[in-house]
Amino acid sequence: MKFNSALENIKSYEAGKPIELVVREYGIDKDHIVKLASNENPFGCSPKVKEAVRDIIDNMALYPDDSMIKLKNALGDKYGIASDEMIIGAGSDQVIEFAIHAKAHNGSKVLMNSVTFAMYEIYAKQVGAVIVRTPSREHKMEEFYALYQEHKPSIIFLCTPNNPTGDALDAQEMLSFIEKVDSDTLVIVDGAYMEYARFKDPSKAIDPKELIGKFDNVLFLGTFSKAYGLGGMRVGYGLAQAQIIKALYKVRPPFNITTLSLEAASVALEDEAFVQTCIADNFKEMKRYEAFASAKGIQIIDSYTNFVTLSLPQAKNSSEIAQALLKKGMIIRDLSSYGLNAIRVTIGTQVQNDRFFELSEPLL
Ligand SMILES: *Cc1c(COP(=O)(O)O)cnc(C)c1O
Repeated sequence: MKFNSALENIKSYEAGKPIELVVREYGIDKDHIVKLASNENPFGCSPKVKEAVRDIIDNMALYPDDSMIKLKNALGDKYGIASDEMIIGAGSDQVIEFAIHAKAHNGSKVLMNSVTFAMYEIYAKQVGAVIVRTPSREHKMEEFYALYQEHKPSIIFLCTPNNPTGDALDAQEMLSFIEKVDSDTLVIVDGAYMEYARFKDPSKAIDPKELIGKFDNVLFLGTFSKAYGLGGMRVGYGLAQAQIIKALYKVRPPFNITTLSLEAASVALEDEAFVQTCIADNFKEMKRYEAFASAKGIQIIDSYTNFVTLSLPQAKNSSEIAQALLKKGMIIRDLSSYGLNAIRVTIGTQVQNDRFFELSEPLL
């Protein structure tokens, strides 16, 4: 069968391996497997969220509230923005899909960092868009500007902090760049890890209200999958001026968020203390990874997220290391598909991190 020819040069997204698969493939007991591969919160979500979801478990027969008013009000309180300036997606992934489908088409150009979140390229290629990438591993605003001038892209992605490298842009520098971009270019600022960056270094923190107040061509993305510990619920959001949100709504399917997910995300926003405690622990544990890498002479990228990226020396092959760890029940991320000889490890609980150090000690 022939399919849409735009699909021919798309490589399917390679998700972090689920625990169930490692149980099946390697016959390892479920309790001996540690997954540090998808940047989930190792402490899960607030206990208040679990309680709230249990309380509404009898509401599954009816379609969800498609106005999503409870969640929009909670997000409105958090950011100080109006409900017509937000759209909720099944993960911020889905908002990326909406934005690309709403703005780009066959032959459009989409500018992004050389190494960045894989879904930008996948969605862009679905509509036949052409990908333009900067040369450097880290976001360099002068490289973005030069390529912006040369290609006049319809969309620019800025992922800060960046996945899979963990580095973050200086907020002022990013704002100065956006000021130079014409208002018909959609700039998507992906802040999936912004809660972590804000905690570690306020100069990296982007305030969505200020951002969308200043620019009519910017879409800010946030998610409940990382710091809020709700990866399994699939909830993310896009914040922008109403005109952009209106366009995104035209490509959104109705009832795209389940009743349970809407409740979980709304209640998660009521327990910021829980999230801040998790983030504090994250950076405390990250220090141990830094010490581990330094003792091994391995380069670690300064991270503003809940993961660390270890750049391996040539003699160590990242795919082989990831495979060897997998056989021992430790799931991490090999970054060879990004063109890097590196591994990405999500910061886990103290016990999970101990296990990583123990298992990787003889390998690294
Ligand atoms: C995890 C992640 C997302 C999206 O996650 P969802 O689970 O779809 O909300 C978006 N961007 C980056 C950079 C991420 O790491």
